[in-house]
Amino acid sequence: KKALLEELKGKENVTKSGQKIHIYANIGNLGDVGSVLKNDAGGIGLFRSEFLYLESETFPTEEQQFSVYKTVAENMAGKRVIIRTLDIGADKQVGYFGLAQEENPALGYRAIRICLKQPEIFKTQLRALYRASAYGQIAIMFPMIISVEEVRRIKDIVREVKEELREEGFAFREDLELGIMIETPAAVMVSRDLAKEVDFFSVGTNDLTQYTLAIDRQNQKLDDFYDAHHPAVLGMIRMAAESAHAEGKWIGICGELAADLSLTEVFLDMKIDELSVAPSMVLPLRKKVRESL
Ligand code: PEP
Ligand code: MG
Repeated sequence: KKALLEELKGKENVTKSGQKIHIYANIGNLGDVGSVLKNDAGGIGLFRSEFLYLESETFPTEEQQFSVYKTVAENMAGKRVIIRTLDIGADKQVGYFGLAQEENPALGYRAIRICLKQPEIFKTQLRALYRASAYGQIAIMFPMIISVEEVRRIKDIVREVKEELREEGFAFREDLELGIMIETPAAVMVSRDLAKEVDFFSVGTNDLTQYTLAIDRQNQKLDDFYDAHHPAVLGMIRMAAESAHAEGKWIGICGELAADLSLTEVFLDMKIDELSVAPSMVLPLRKKVRESL
């Protein structure tokens, strides 16, 4: 079996009828880049940047972050690297953020909400990302979006950051792709308007399932109810895909569901442009795509 998968390296992700799809990999730290390359992923579809914050005793500096993002970009040698801005809060707590205990952390002060309330934290990360963009094909993705207003505020902050870097004489790419996670039902419902504002969507099925079904993804007692194949969840993904494509944008899936081979044909039918999975799932998924009609 291993040998068969080995033979798929360098092959296209194309169905029997000629439909193509990108297969990227998810990573949680720098050490994973080797397995992304070894498994012949077309890019990195989700780089969970929060490890930088989780592993640190204080806020990681711009230089520390820049060095990590630059290394990933260089190692991926021109392949797309989608870095998600910090998704702290909820299940990922970091002491030095000084976040208060909350009754409902999954519905609480987390991710983009922290970034918009504390723009100095956000700007440090954005500066590092833009500076690293000179070394590869970085794209930036924002988590837990619920509204067009949030995206406009993000873009205002991005504009400020670029202006500052320009004045300071840093090299960076002007045309970085900016995308958002589709992981709340609100984002799905306003996805047509969101699609006008961004370059791409990436569906976070882990949270989208949690929020659509009102089931805590951390509560193992509810595992029997946490059904990511629920028609409501699949309907949301389809709707987001239609919105993206109607505005000429592309859409990927980076939640666990992307690696569910029993849904690959469903995703192909939705014309999903990219699936991002654990590095070890890249070749099994390529095999599945190549066997599909
Ligand atoms: C998701 O919610 O599906 C996702 C990819 O993000 P995370 O699992 O890090 O919340
Ligand atoms: Mg998520």
